[in-house]
This record gives sequence, C-alpha cells and structure tokens, in this order.
Amino acid sequence: MTNQTILQTLKSYFGYTQFRPLQEDIITSILQKKDTVVLMPTGGGKSICFQLPALLTEGTAIVISPLISLMKDQVEALQANGIPAYALNSMNDETTNARLKQACLLGRVKLLYISPERLLSEINFLLRDIKISLFAIDEAHCISQWGHDFRPEYTQLKSLREAFPQVPIVALTATADKITREDIIRQLHMRSPKVFISSFDRPNLSLEVKRGLQQKEKIRTITRFLLRHQGESGIIYCMSRNGTEKVAELLKEEGFSATVYHAGLNNVQRERAQDDFINDRVQIVCATIAFGMGIDKSNVRWVIHYNLPKSIESFYQEIGRAGRDGLPSETLLFYSFGDIVMLSKFAEESGQQEINKEKLERMRQYAETDICRRRILLNYFGETMDHDCGNCDVCRNPPERFDGTIIVQKALSAIMRTEQSIGIHMLIDILKGTPTQEVTAKGFHELKTFGAGRDVPARDWQDYLLQMLNLGYFEVAYNENNHLKITETGRKVLFGHERAQLAVIKREEREKKTSERKKSKTVSPTVQLSFPETSNDEMLFEELRKLRKKLADQQAIPPYIVLSDKTLKLICTQKPVTLEEFGEISGIGEFKKARYGKDFTEVIRQFLGKR
Ligand code: ADP
Ligand code: ZN
Repeated sequence: MTNQTILQTLKSYFGYTQFRPLQEDIITSILQKKDTVVLMPTGGGKSICFQLPALLTEGTAIVISPLISLMKDQVEALQANGIPAYALNSMNDETTNARLKQACLLGRVKLLYISPERLLSEINFLLRDIKISLFAIDEAHCISQWGHDFRPEYTQLKSLREAFPQVPIVALTATADKITREDIIRQLHMRSPKVFISSFDRPNLSLEVKRGLQQKEKIRTITRFLLRHQGESGIIYCMSRNGTEKVAELLKEEGFSATVYHAGLNNVQRERAQDDFINDRVQIVCATIAFGMGIDKSNVRWVIHYNLPKSIESFYQEIGRAGRDGLPSETLLFYSFGDIVMLSKFAEESGQQEINKEKLERMRQYAETDICRRRILLNYFGETMDHDCGNCDVCRNPPERFDGTIIVQKALSAIMRTEQSIGIHMLIDILKGTPTQEVTAKGFHELKTFGAGRDVPARDWQDYLLQMLNLGYFEVAYNENNHLKITETGRKVLFGHERAQLAVIKREEREKKTSERKKSKTVSPTVQLSFPETSNDEMLFEELRKLRKKLADQQAIPPYIVLSDKTLKLICTQKPVTLEEFGEISGIGEFKKARYGKDFTEVIRQFLGKR
C-alpha cells in the first residue's frame, strides 16, 4: 500500500491532509500486521491510528473499550464520517445485536466496538465466522494492576494472542509510565511489538496555579475566568462531593449554567449530567475525580482544579480533558494549606502510604515551583524539555522574592513559645494578637509574640505560612491534631544562622477588580475563541455555532461530533461559499462535505451579503 493511498483515505474520511507525528508510522506498522503499542497523551490522536488501518484492510476491526459511553462517542464520530462502525453491547436489544452480527458476517462492518466481557462471550462467533482485520485495545492500561484504572475483565484479553495468531493486536493508552507499559505487553502476550511513544506535551493547554485563596476569592476568580469563556464548556474538579455541590450552587447564583457529578448520585442522575454536558445543554460540570473517563468531548475549553489533586498523574489526566481538538485551552489550579493537610491525611491512611505521600509531595512541588511548570510535568513523565514553554504562569510572570527572614522568625518564634502545641489557625490568631477564647484559655495572650505579626493581614499570613511549610521550615504533625513542628532548617532561620527568601504575594484580584468592571461593559459578551480579525467574525462564529447545534439536535448527536470547534473556527475564518471550498477545510471529509456543505455555505453567503 502506498503512502499516497493512506493519505487519501485520511482526507476522504476524516478531512485531514497531514498526519500528526508518529501516526503514519503506527499505521504502517499495523498494516504490516505487527503487534503495536501506542502511547500518546489524551487528545494526541490515537483513534485514527487503528481506524485508518481498519478502513484499509479487508474485514472487521474489533475495538475493545471499557465504557459504553466511550464506545458511543467513537461510534457516533465514525458514523458522522460515513464509516460503518457499530457497538455490540448490553444497551442494544438482542435483535439489534443479532442483526449486527449478521452484518459482520456479510463483511459490512468496518469497526465493531465491544466490551471485554462481551468479547469473551462472543469469542466463538468471532473465531469461526467473521474475518477480523485487527484487534485494537483502547485504554490498554486497564489490564495492569500498576495502572490507575485496573479492570479485572481486561485480564481475560490474554487469550486473544493465542486464539487469533494471524491478527495484529494494537494496544493504546495515555498512561505513560514504564512499568505499566511493560505489563501491558506481557499481559497481552504480544509478539515482539513495535512500541511508539509520542511526546506527552500538550502545548495548547495553558497552566496556572493560584495559592491560598479562600472560598469567596476562588469563586470570584472563577467568575472572572468565566468572563473569558462565555458559553464554553469546562470542568471544575473538587476534592469532595460537598465541594462540587457548593461550587455549583455559588456559580448558579452568579448566573452560570452548572451541574454536579459525583459518586453520591444515582446512575440516572450521573448520566443526565454527562449527557447535558456533552450536548452543550449545560456549560459547567463540578465534579469529583469520578468524572471524565467516559468523556471524549473535544471542545472542553477549560479545566479548573478547585483543590489540589493527589498526584501529578491524576492532575495531568484531568487537565488533559481540555482542548482535545488542539485549540488553546486554559487550566487553573487552586491550592491551599487545607488541601495539603487533607491530602496528607488521606495518604497516611491509605494502603500504600509511602508511594502516596511521595506522589503528593511531587504534586506539591509542581504547585510551588518557580521554574516553568511544563518542564516539571514533562520531567515527571520522563521527558526532558530544553526550553521554557511561555504558556504557564511562571513563564509569563516569574515570582519575585524578598528577604522574609523577620516574617519567618516571628512565626517560628510563636510556634516555639507555645511549645509547638498549636495548629495554623491558632498561630495566626497569636500573630495577629486576636484574643480568642482558646488563645486566652491557654494563656497565649501573654506570650511575647502575641500580636507580633499585627502588621501583616491574616490572609497574607496564610500564604506565608504555606510558603514556609513548602520551604521546609516546619512540618505538620498529622497524628497530633495538625500541630506545627519546627524543623532543623527552620531552626537555622529562627536563630539567625540562615536567611529566608519568600515570594511576594500577588493580589491581582484586588487591583484588577475595578478596571475589569469598567472593561466588562464594553467587551462583547460573545468573545469566544480569539479571532485575529474583527468582531464580525465573532458574529459569524455565533451563527455557525447555532447552525451546528441545530444540525446536532436533528440527528441527536453532540455538536462536537457534527464538527469540532477547530473545524468550525476554520470555516469562520476561511468563509467557504462553494461546496468545493467547504470540502477543502481541515476536518471535512467527503461525507460531511455532502451532508453539511449546503447549510454552512448558505449561512456564509448570507452573512457576506449582509456586510
Ligand atoms: P485520543 O484518542 O488520543 O485522545 P483522538 O483520537 O480523539 O485522541 O484525537 C483527538 C482529536 O485530534 C480529534 O478531534 C481528531 O479528529 C484530531 N486528529 C487526529 N489526527 C489528526 C490529524 N492527523 N490532523 C488533524 N486532526 C487530527
Ligand atoms: Zn512555562
């Protein structure tokens, strides 16, 4: 098969004119019937790697996927490109499944999606009667106990290699680490597989961390953040169910469309939340980590972490749900003293104490760093990056430091004088000279350090103390009511042997508030994706988006399956007025050209006529 043929198939079915790095090599490897392992980050473009070989080979490709919602999404996306793909699962009635099997026998199905347990029960049918082009095992890390989503059903896939000696097996995952990778190969009994590892960088995701904000300030920050993302889908991850409920409530009060997703809801409620989100009926989902694995929505434009996640793996996977279509997407992480106390407690109580504490430690270092955040992330995944990214808050706005020795000494001295028997709240009360009942009951109002930090606002104390914790000046004794204990390093500063550098606290919120309020009146409420041109394009984009929603509703599929945000944006800037021009746009294959060309070019012609 020539490269020309492969490229033509890419264009005619998917509307793309170029491969992304590694895609073509992966496809070639599969077409040569080699077992193949594909490691790519979320949104990297894994699906095409097996979908294209499926189209180019005789027979049916069997795709194993862990979740019905994932199957549904991929099947809809393929069908929207005119490709005969179906899912065999328990959601169908058995007549449908029987008909589907018949279609497979007749060679009319190019891709058949199936869950691992169903696969096993169908194995005799598959083995005997249909021609299988390849097996694609999606989310392949589910087979490994080392991965974070172990699914016992996946281990049964072991038998495939022996049962189908002629058929290539392709394992795909976004989980990068080496143990999991090797485990996948071993468990699937793969035959000297070719392994492709793509970069895990997602340059279109911006990274930002905000430290030590209180609930009110977080909500205010989020509200302002949402001004830049009006009508654009996003996820807010919270540590607890309560957190999701509260945040959603507060955002609704501010007039946003938000819903919740967590383990306390029943299946129906959860499915409704997911469905509303996928179909753009609700803009924001406030979720615990349970949300996301089944979501392939390509136009999630932003992700916020309301609390610190427990590991960099979870964090990267969660922010990875933004910007799958490759367009710029924004991520924001809040973290506070309370998060660290809570997560440390979870880690202490978990079965794998050492590992979990270490993971949390790395997450904390990420949040606290003053070097390019993307470098830290990629480094964590074993990739080195030789330049700063320019798309994180540290690159854009490096932290400034000052000599904070006196501030540190005041705090440590207060801890010392209470014989290290207090937590952070009491410490702040003492520093501020607030004679609360607890303080006076213990006689701490008579300490020399009582009120020694009166000149610093309480919320700044919060921030400085978090910095001191991160600098290792004191520790939190989780087994002693979270009392603060001074470390060796802390002693050196306390007794004047070493000086301490603290970061200047930036309170952009306060200063910006007034200017933003003025500005927001003049800014059009439909600033969506940044357009190089005038606001005319924004108006056109809105019309195109409405048309897309209408077409989606007519077919009962999500808008991003009709056309991705990226394709919609290209239509908006290139303004095709003929079918030919429409077909040239990246993301428009033959099928979409025929199905949607007329509607879209008509809207554009009308729009241009009006101008
Ligand atoms: P993954 O499964 O790795 O998370 P997908 O396969 O869903 O990623 O691909 C992410 C997005 O990138 C999809 O919208 C897909 O259509 C798009 N994409 C994949 N390959 C290409 C390509 N060669 N050119 C342009 N877009 C692509
Ligand atoms: Zn950077």
